[in-house]
Amino acid sequence: MVNLLDYDLAGIKKFLIGIGEDPFRGTQLFKWVHQKGVADFEEMTNLSKSLRKVLSEVATVEVPMPKKDDIASDGTRKVLFGVDSQNAVESVFIPEIDRGTLCISSQVGCALACTFCSTGRQGFNRNLSVSEIVGQLWWFMHSPTLDGTPNRLGNVSADRPVSNVVMMGMGEPLTNYDSLITALRVMLDDNAYGLSRRKLTVSTSGIVPNIDRLREDCPVSLAVSLHAPTNELRDELVPINKKYPIEQLLDACRRYIDPNISSDVSSEKWIRSGSPRDFVTFEYVMLHGINDSNSQARELLKLTEGISCKFNLIPFNPFPGSGYKTSHSERVQAFQRILMSGGRIATVRKTRGDDVSGACGQLAGEVKDKRTPRRSRSQREGVSSNRYVMRGKS
Ligand code: SAH
Ligand code: SF4
Repeated sequence: MVNLLDYDLAGIKKFLIGIGEDPFRGTQLFKWVHQKGVADFEEMTNLSKSLRKVLSEVATVEVPMPKKDDIASDGTRKVLFGVDSQNAVESVFIPEIDRGTLCISSQVGCALACTFCSTGRQGFNRNLSVSEIVGQLWWFMHSPTLDGTPNRLGNVSADRPVSNVVMMGMGEPLTNYDSLITALRVMLDDNAYGLSRRKLTVSTSGIVPNIDRLREDCPVSLAVSLHAPTNELRDELVPINKKYPIEQLLDACRRYIDPNISSDVSSEKWIRSGSPRDFVTFEYVMLHGINDSNSQARELLKLTEGISCKFNLIPFNPFPGSGYKTSHSERVQAFQRILMSGGRIATVRKTRGDDVSGACGQLAGEVKDKRTPRRSRSQREGVSSNRYVMRGKS
C-alpha cells in the first residue's frame, strides 16, 4: 500500500504509470485528496470505476491522528498528532481576522539542541515523512473545529482556513530536506493548496548548504534564526553555528536574495509586495541579560548592513528548567528602536496561545528521546493506534 499523501503531483503521475494507469488522471486524484479532502476512492466520481477499484487495492490516504486538541483563550489551536506508537508532534493554528497561519512540525524532536528551545532539549527521534508533514495541513483544512463550525475566522475564505504556512513547529526543516521539498511542492500546487511562495515560510537555524539548495529547488520565504550578533554567543545558543558560523550564514542569505530586485530595504510596502526572495527575515529570541543589550542591537545593524532583511524579535517563551528569562518589554522596545533607527524593519512577535503552550519554542510533542530514559505519556499508556485512516482502505 502506498500513501498518496506522500506524493507531489509528479509523484502521483509516476505512481499511476507504475500501475499501468493514465497519468493524466493524477490531477483529478490530487484535487480529490487535497482540495476536497476525500480519502475514499469510491467518492471520486469522475474517476472510472475500474481505476477506483485498482486504487482501493494498492493505495490509501492516511493522515496522522490527532491525540489532543486544545484551543487557547485567544483562539490559537494546538493539535497533537500521533505519528507512530511512541511519538507525536504538534501543530499550531493561529487565526487572525485577515489570515490563518498554520505552524507545522518537520521532525519528531530536533537534534540541533539550541539551549533556549524546548524541542531541542528533548533530543531527536526521527524525520517526519511527506504525508506526516502535509497531513498536518490536510487535517486543519478539512476538519471541523471542536464545536463543529468550520476552522476559520474573519475574511479568510471558507474553504481555505489556512492562508499561510510556517515551518516553525518542532524540528529543523532543512535537515529533513527531501521530504520538506516534496511537502512544499504539494502546498504550493494550485491543484492542492495553492499557497503563494510568499505565504509559505521555511525557518532554519542555518543549515548553509541546504539554504542554497532551497533557493534552487523551491524558493519560498526564508526565516533565519539568528539570535546572536557574535559567533561566541551564537555557538552557545545555537550550537550548529560551530559548523556554519555567522559569516557563512549571512553569505547564504545574500545568495538567497535575488540580486536583481530593488534594495530599498527601508520600505515596508516593498517588503509586503516583494517576492519571497527579496528579503530574509531574521528571527531573534529575546533572552534577558544574554542577547538583548543596546550594543548587541548595534552589532546586529553592522552585521546585516546591505542585506535586505527584516527582524522579528521573539520574546522568549519560558518552559520548565530552561534557565533563561524573557527580556522585559521596555528592553525589547529599546532594542527594536535601535534596529529601526538603523533603517531595518523590526517587529515584535505577539505571543499567541501560551495558555496551551502553543507559542514558539514551547512545542514539545511526545518524543521517544534516545538520550533520556523518561517515557512519554503515550508509551506509559501504551497507545498503539497511530494513524487516522480516512474511509479508504489501508
Ligand atoms: N528549527 C527551526 C524552526 C523551528 S523553531 C529554527 O530553529 O528556525 C521556530 C522559531 O522559534 C525559531 O526562530 C526558534 O529559534 C524559536 N524558538 C525556539 N525556542 C523558543 C523559545 N523558547 N521562545 C521563543 N522562541 C523560540
Ligand atoms: Fe531545533 Fe529550531 Fe529548536 Fe534549534 S530552535 S533546537 S533548530 S527546533
